[in-house]
Amino acid sequence: MSRVVIVGGGAAGLELASLLGRSVNGQDEIILVEGETHHYWKPRFHEIAAGTFDNDLDTLCYFSHGAKNGYRHFQARMTDIKREDKQIIVYKPNGETDTLSYDYLVIAIGAISNDFATKGALDHCLFLDTPEQARDSWQQISALLRSGEKRTINIVGAGATGLELAAELAKVSGKLSQNPHAARLTINLIEASDRVLPNSPIEMSKQAHKKLEQYQVNVMLNTRIASVDQQGMTTSDGQTLNADIQFWAAGIKAPNWLKNIGGLESNQANQLMVQQTLATTLDPNIFSLGDCASIPQGDGTMVPPKAQAANRAAVHLAKNLTGLMQGKELTPFIYKDGGMVVAIGHDFAISTMMNDRLILKGRLVRRLYDTIFRLHQKTVSGLFTMSRLIIAKRLKCIFQPSS
Ligand SMILES: Cc1cc2nc3c(=O)[nH]c(=O)nc-3n(C[C@H](O)[C@H](O)[C@H](O)COP(=O)(O)OP(=O)(O)OC[C@H]3O[C@@H](n4cnc5c(N)ncnc54)[C@H](O)[C@@H]3O)c2cc1C
Repeated sequence: MSRVVIVGGGAAGLELASLLGRSVNGQDEIILVEGETHHYWKPRFHEIAAGTFDNDLDTLCYFSHGAKNGYRHFQARMTDIKREDKQIIVYKPNGETDTLSYDYLVIAIGAISNDFATKGALDHCLFLDTPEQARDSWQQISALLRSGEKRTINIVGAGATGLELAAELAKVSGKLSQNPHAARLTINLIEASDRVLPNSPIEMSKQAHKKLEQYQVNVMLNTRIASVDQQGMTTSDGQTLNADIQFWAAGIKAPNWLKNIGGLESNQANQLMVQQTLATTLDPNIFSLGDCASIPQGDGTMVPPKAQAANRAAVHLAKNLTGLMQGKELTPFIYKDGGMVVAIGHDFAISTMMNDRLILKGRLVRRLYDTIFRLHQKTVSGLFTMSRLIIAKRLKCIFQPSS
């Protein structure tokens, strides 16, 4: 009997734990080490921050889900690895430190925002790296919306995270425009490069920019933030951008504590270096995937830090680990990008398809965005549960009285 310890129950880790838990059927032990009690799908964190997230239907309790899907949830955060003893060191919610042995270890702890050591960013900006930060953001935004004055929110970074957050906040603010007691928000979306969604096809950037303008988001391109303080931000050319709330959503890196953990190789963004099989370069018993891993492809490119890539790598690693425990060889993970969908509010999305040759937009594409979340739910909980959740959501939308 082998013990597989998976650290991190996000887009990659939870799918892996569910797939393995169901396939090993109790013959091997699958343990998911995760600090949170509930799983939230990270691409929806901006909805939590904007107060539009459905807490009843779109979360999952690791403890009960694990019992149904053949893995054990161990609520703790990994802090270190003792490779020579095949153990990880964890910090438990009661403040105690513990160790956990493994035969195979998978690290899927995701990434955090990269503030690029910008002065004051850590102290004066909100981040959307954890559900707690997203909930805390909503507390602050909710109070701001009730203040009944002209208010400003700065968001740094017009990648998917910053853009989706700006659009969601603009929609929430727009809905409150009839309310004389609600604040009137100015939302500044600040981007250092010359277009929003800088890593996407130009046409997608253009369409997204146009939509943001319709939502009255103030998009500021070619604007680099040099420092942040309590009052606002200062750009590299000395302009001051005052704000009541400031978000940092530019760039990602793996957390600093992951760098060279247990003597493993990592890159400049602290991501663990793995082979194409997802095994780490220096230890065949330790694997990594998702945003915290640097995964090479045969053509020299790297797998992008995207939910879709995390999900596909999880499916591949589940097969690889099952095979490995039966004495089979590992196979390389070949990533085929299925395009990208970015939600701009609750009824509009833009997507690229067919190797970026086709750009789609509109209400139907927004449904496609939801489909990506549904596919995650299907992998994690099965087709039957996913279908029931869709029906429950539809009924809730129809019958819930609007407030
Ligand atoms: C607001 C927002 C919008 C986004 N929109 C999109 C989008 O439209 N499309 C897209 O493809 N991607 C999007 N992303 C990126 C996407 O969410 C990530 O690429 C994806 O979640 C990465 O999956 P992961 O499993 O590597 O990490 P995560 O999903 O971040 O999961 C990591 C897990 O590890 C846990 N963890 C962390 N540290 C420890 C520890 N020390 N011990 C134990 N557990 C730990 C965390 O609690 C978390 O559950 C968005 C991200 C954000 C924040």
